[in-house]
Amino acid sequence: MREHHRVVIIGSGPAGLTAAIYAARADLKPLLLEGREPGGQLMTTTDVENFPGFPDGIQGPELMELMRRQAQRFGAETRFAEVTAVDFSVRPFWLALDGGRQELTADAVIVATGASAKYLGLPNELRLRGRGVSACATCDGAFFRGQEVAVVGGGDTAMEEALFLTRFAERVYVIHRRDQLRASKILQQRAFQNPKIRFIWSTVVEDVLGQDRVEGLLLRHLPTGAQSTLSVHGLFVAIGHKPNTELFRGQLELDEQGYIRTRPGSTHTSVPGVFACGDVQDKVYRQAVTAAGSGCMAALDCERWLAELASPVESAPEPVSSPTES
Ligand code: NAP
Repeated sequence: MREHHRVVIIGSGPAGLTAAIYAARADLKPLLLEGREPGGQLMTTTDVENFPGFPDGIQGPELMELMRRQAQRFGAETRFAEVTAVDFSVRPFWLALDGGRQELTADAVIVATGASAKYLGLPNELRLRGRGVSACATCDGAFFRGQEVAVVGGGDTAMEEALFLTRFAERVYVIHRRDQLRASKILQQRAFQNPKIRFIWSTVVEDVLGQDRVEGLLLRHLPTGAQSTLSVHGLFVAIGHKPNTELFRGQLELDEQGYIRTRPGSTHTSVPGVFACGDVQDKVYRQAVTAAGSGCMAALDCERWLAELASPVESAPEPVSSPTES
């Protein structure tokens, strides 16, 4: 017989693990499938200084291990497996793990597969990730107080990252591959007016220099082909994020950028019984604490939906107009 669970959570970042804590405490005995990158994006972050409750900061991997233990303590089962196919058109929902080696069914599913920052794809960029290379100024900007850093990209994220970094860094170089930005006018203006930001146009990063930490960048000016080096201690890659939703294409409604659409103010997706939380449905805030918050919402939405399924109540008619003050 196929393994069946009341609630399956896909993804093990702050959203998935918080959903697991809440679902376990509601006695739903959730199964959490850890996925290809157990612990999610925080596993590649060193000091986390903005997660409430840790006044001295905490290492990203340690925070995720604490969340995992907390979920397990209340009865959540966590399993190192990757979901490789789903069918949300059948009831119960069907999931295949690890290329079909295992199959299971679930009454409800919480999707928390997150998003991945895009990187340039340079070998030394990968080697120095967490040692000066980052994709999150909010997470790592404060480590570059008084130093010179670079941001790659010309979109809204790049401008926001650059502006945020000016709080700490002495100088912020924005390196963009074209001679004009795609960022919104207001962010462009703010960046142009900031005396700490300098633009390096029509230029790409060809290599990241440094032995144990970032010490500089090898640049190429595209119109002339000229190479140069830029001495910086940090490289913030801001060339976009990619939601991890390939698995759900054709199953759940996605927006034009591939993020899962949720009903406003909730975690309900286009399929009743499937909920989404964390970065897979959030392209605005993308913080560990907001992901955790939406994980809590997903577990509560899921619990209510399952309770309603077990004993449906006739829903009250929608008010035709909002109540007026007397
Ligand atoms: P984006 O708009 O796709 O911009 C990515 C930038 O990175 C582009 O300038 C692109 O260059 C550059 N880029 C892409 N691949 C590259 C590569 N391999 N090498 C060098 N440069 C590369 O991504 P985003 O800035 O993350 O924004 C995503 C969405 O979220 C947008 O719709 C944005 O408006 C929205 N957003 C809004 C806000 C806000 O309103 N406050 C904040 C953040 C994000 P090209 O320009 O040459 O293509």
